[in-house]
Amino acid sequence: MKTFCFKLYNSDHNNTLMRQINIAGLIFNHCIALHKRYYRLFRKYINAYQLMKHLTKLKRTKRFSYMNKLGSQAVQNIVERIDRAYNLFWSNRKRKIKSSPPKFRRVKHYQSFTLKQAGWSLNELEGRIRIGKKWYGYFKSRNIEGKVKTLTVKRDAVGDIYIYLSCEIQNKPIEPRTGKIVGFDFGLKRFLTGSDGHNIKSPYFFMLNAKQIKNKCRNLSHKQKSSHNRERARKELARAYRRMKNQRKDFHFKTARSLCKEYAVICLEDLNMKGMARRYGKKVHSSGFSEFVKILEYEAVKFGTQIVFIDRFYPSSQLCSVCGYKNSAVKDLRICEWDCPSCGTHHDRDENAAKNILMAGASAIGLELVRPVLSGKVR
Ligand SMILES: [Zn+2]
Repeated sequence: MKTFCFKLYNSDHNNTLMRQINIAGLIFNHCIALHKRYYRLFRKYINAYQLMKHLTKLKRTKRFSYMNKLGSQAVQNIVERIDRAYNLFWSNRKRKIKSSPPKFRRVKHYQSFTLKQAGWSLNELEGRIRIGKKWYGYFKSRNIEGKVKTLTVKRDAVGDIYIYLSCEIQNKPIEPRTGKIVGFDFGLKRFLTGSDGHNIKSPYFFMLNAKQIKNKCRNLSHKQKSSHNRERARKELARAYRRMKNQRKDFHFKTARSLCKEYAVICLEDLNMKGMARRYGKKVHSSGFSEFVKILEYEAVKFGTQIVFIDRFYPSSQLCSVCGYKNSAVKDLRICEWDCPSCGTHHDRDENAAKNILMAGASAIGLELVRPVLSGKVR
């Protein structure tokens, strides 16, 4: 499966889609209310089929006739979404994982609806799509491959509408190739530190945009509630956030592609994002390590690159990459450089960690790497 995303041209027609997404939000909330009431009365759960039947009946009444403005497949999809959320909740409860059932959402924050085969058609040549009865133009940024399975109409906080076409593609299986192997350590000073000295600088998008966002936040807070000016300020802020998000995504994709092109095996640490954010603060989220790992895994499939994750509890930064001595003093994050008490080698914290990650990763896939012979900076 591959998903193609296109932005719609801005036009008055888009209001129809906005209204339809609002209706989807209303139906979502109605279903949640039904679920809650049913459970309170009968201690039972409504299955998707029953709920769908009930909604079909409701549509015929005058009070709920607005539901007809949304395609029936979109309604079915909402029911499926809720069903999935409830099933996840039940299974989490069984496994004693703390979670909550799906909640009511504010209609204006409800984002999307999904259609399957019916209710829309695509004119790829002209870059136009029909949703319901109206035609919309979209920015034809690329060609669609494969057979389109579903269409999702989604709006963002700025008020632009995007279409997501999920297509079925026969992926050719790519053989894992042979070549260079590398270990990478994530850091804040440097985004990635390579075991072979290939370092990638941290982009600090958040820092660059922080001033702008700060100003826009203040602007928003000074505006009167529910005024037009406030709405405009809100959009400005949302736009700034969107720009930052896009810059980050672009950086991630470019980095991932170039790494996958260069290396046949990439070893990484399995990250514990929540713990890291608690220790380092907001910057962890702004550099988006976990998103980067996802993108790297996606690109690796295309290039036949193998990604090896080493155990989260492997003390990669504490071990000496030359002699294997474990120096617990390095646990302190403020230490950037240290000397090994056993063999005296001078280490850069991140580079040393990257070398250890490389060795652990190599042994995980059955490669035997010899620790480098004592040489160079021995005192
Ligand atoms: Zn040592």
